Amino acid sequence: MTIKENISLLPYNTFGLPAKAKIFTEYSSVEELRALLEKYKGEPLLHIGAGSNLLFTKDFDGVILHSAMRRARCVSEDADYVWIEAENGLVLDELIAQLCDMGISGLENLSYIPGEVGASAVQNVGAYGVEAKDVIESVRAVSIADGAERIFSNAECQYGYRDSIFKNSLRGKYIITHVVYRLNKHFEPKLNYGNLSSEVGSNPTPMSVREAVIRIRQQKLPEVSELGSAGSFFKNPVISHEAYETLTRQIRDDRVPHYEQEGGVKIPAAWLIEQCGWKGKSIGGAQCYPKQPLVLVNTGSATADDIVALAAAICKDVQDKFGITISPEVNYI
Ligand SMILES: Cc1cc2nc3c(=O)[nH]c(=O)nc-3n(C[C@H](O)[C@H](O)[C@H](O)COP(=O)(O)OP(=O)(O)OC[C@H]3O[C@@H](n4cnc5c(N)ncnc54)[C@H](O)[C@@H]3O)c2cc1C
Repeated sequence: MTIKENISLLPYNTFGLPAKAKIFTEYSSVEELRALLEKYKGEPLLHIGAGSNLLFTKDFDGVILHSAMRRARCVSEDADYVWIEAENGLVLDELIAQLCDMGISGLENLSYIPGEVGASAVQNVGAYGVEAKDVIESVRAVSIADGAERIFSNAECQYGYRDSIFKNSLRGKYIITHVVYRLNKHFEPKLNYGNLSSEVGSNPTPMSVREAVIRIRQQKLPEVSELGSAGSFFKNPVISHEAYETLTRQIRDDRVPHYEQEGGVKIPAAWLIEQCGWKGKSIGGAQCYPKQPLVLVNTGSATADDIVALAAAICKDVQDKFGITISPEVNYI
């Protein structure tokens, strides 16, 4: 276990903001995690992964927890499926690369999403028509209050679009330590999203889908090593069918991009933001990324205030122009 004081969080957030933490800890086992929870009982705690969905708005006057548990193992298999248990600190993309290498499928569409296994099960990460919840069998977690372990079935995680029980009623109450995935031995490619099918070509394999996803992502999204960001800053809003009809009448255009979905119609937030003229615009060092307006980037000199101001201005304009509320996917700390 390591414990450091007054440490810069610059290497721990992909926005590249220079916040500091009073205490930064890293544990290598569940026992060490329990010992840290006991030691720092009553202090403000924040468990982080790779910091790719965090916006540090100020210094963190408490204890940051980070996992150095990075193993994965097969816990069961039958003729059709293999159950893989991964530790929370394993980089999700490293796990996916290994699985694709072994011809095991289910996670390949999520290739190249930054971040660690634990957070991916909190966020229910998704891309190219697949969400983590599609293959998560269960999640093992430790209670922050008393260190007790609890296993959550997929249904108990209450997954939704970039959402789970760990972001709602159990927010800040559990630390996910392990995720069990049920993965397919027989490849059933999911290529219906966007131009994925043409990018993959014929005779797809888990690895060729992974490679195609990476190629597409590299064309569209900024590399965090070059331009700080947290990926999509906003969630795509889901509105009622009535609200959608009103919207198309109001702007006299029935070509508003939309996707039918359970409970309503999903409108791409990127389109709403672009219609409001924000694509490529900046406030201070924060910019609405020209290639993908859903992403806000740190052009190098952005402060957290710049990013907060840009996000607020975009939300206000979308609300004023369309009457639609867009909310951040990114976690403000
Ligand atoms: C360039 C870029 C592209 C992206 N593309 C996508 C995409 O296509 N799809 C998508 O869904 N997301 C995407 N994201 C967002 C991000 O990668 C995901 O949200 C990812 O799951 C965050 O993982 P992390 O390890 O960095 O978590 P962090 O950002 O460190 O933490 C995220 C949240 O999870 C909590 N948390 C972290 N670990 C644990 C744990 N073990 N137990 C309980 N809570 C925990 C944190 O407290 C925080 O609230 C992108 C981000 C970037 C920078």
